[in-house]
Amino acid sequence: MYNSILVPIDVSEDSLTNMVIPFVQAHAVLNTAKVHFLTVVPSLPYYSSLGLAYSVEMPKMKEFQDAAKSKLEEIAKKFKIPADKIQLHAVAGSPKDQILKLAEMIDADLIIIASHKPDISTYLLGSNAAAVVRHAKCPVLVVR
Ligand code: ADP
Repeated sequence: MYNSILVPIDVSEDSLTNMVIPFVQAHAVLNTAKVHFLTVVPSLPYYSSLGLAYSVEMPKMKEFQDAAKSKLEEIAKKFKIPADKIQLHAVAGSPKDQILKLAEMIDADLIIIASHKPDISTYLLGSNAAAVVRHAKCPVLVVR
């Protein structure tokens, strides 16, 4: 039924990834859909807020992105989807903006996202999940 499924992954949160695996498998079950895994490396304002210098950190951004993509590759294997049906994306920026941007670029017909970190129980949707639900132009499956 789906042609293009977007699965944003926070590579630092294995528990969230484990939650979404059965849902991604269920929706990709016919193996007709391309599953796009995306991880977003926070961009410069994040590092400068830690007091790290622009010129020192900029060259490292490519390294961060490469490391994030390797981690994403490992994580994607857990989903047991045929390799030719998977595409990996690692980009820098704001997670919510980049998730919405890629959804448009790949013409996603479904986004599967976890609601928030499990240790934060005071709200129902994390900031990225909330923005995706609010602004996406396709159905969004929020896994709780
Ligand atoms: P919280 O604020 O509790 O971390 P989020 O809304 O940020 O909640 O996270 C919910 C989901 O948003 C994650 O499971 C993941 O799908 C997506 N997400 C969050 N951060 C990133 C990121 N850096 N890259 C890709 N996806 C992300």
